[in-house]
Amino acid sequence: MNFLEERIIKDGIVKEGNILKVDSFLNHQLDVSLFEQMGIEWAKRFQDVEVNKILTIEASGIGIACVVARQFDVPVVFAKKSHSVNLDGDMYTAEVESFTHKNKNQVIVSKKFLNNDDKVLIIDDFLANGCALQGLISIINQAGASVAGIGIAIEKGFQNGGQIIRNMGYKLESLAIVDSMDASTGTIEFREQKLY
Ligand code: 5GP
Repeated sequence: MNFLEERIIKDGIVKEGNILKVDSFLNHQLDVSLFEQMGIEWAKRFQDVEVNKILTIEASGIGIACVVARQFDVPVVFAKKSHSVNLDGDMYTAEVESFTHKNKNQVIVSKKFLNNDDKVLIIDDFLANGCALQGLISIINQAGASVAGIGIAIEKGFQNGGQIIRNMGYKLESLAIVDSMDASTGTIEFREQKLY
């Protein structure tokens, strides 16, 4: 087991409805040293790709992305959830359905912060059905920029987002892939991963 899998076993809580609660280190209280380890791991996994910007989505992705950005020495841009319907033309927009809140959000990124020569590493906390990632990829495409890679902390491998994104040809590196989890027993099983 790697460091993140060990931490999930130690502090993660399996909830009904296929939700893994990790708010003691990833989603509410933040273990910044753990984020640093995650950054070092992604720096290894993406050492062959050129990255000049990190893109994430508010709120949970921001803390992770900021720590990871220190490894790559690049700025972080986060997609904002917007409730306004009257958006001006200075924004890239995408619609994202929230897995945890079951609602739809318009997410926006200012055109000032994403350009057609950007090579963007996407970072996020969870991958479930892939809606959040599809929205971020759409925004990168609208800017004419390219997706250098995608780093996810926890992928729920029993949902189809990971397969969809890999089938699209993106280099997706999830640090922990949960293959199954059971709320009644609290057990979590991980997919075997190549060690870096
Ligand atoms: P997706 O768009 O891939 O369906 O869901 C990804 C987003 O939903 C993540 O950014 C994360 O905020 C949230 N999410 C999905 N599944 C879980 C989960 O099991 N636990 C937590 N804490 N968040 C989740």
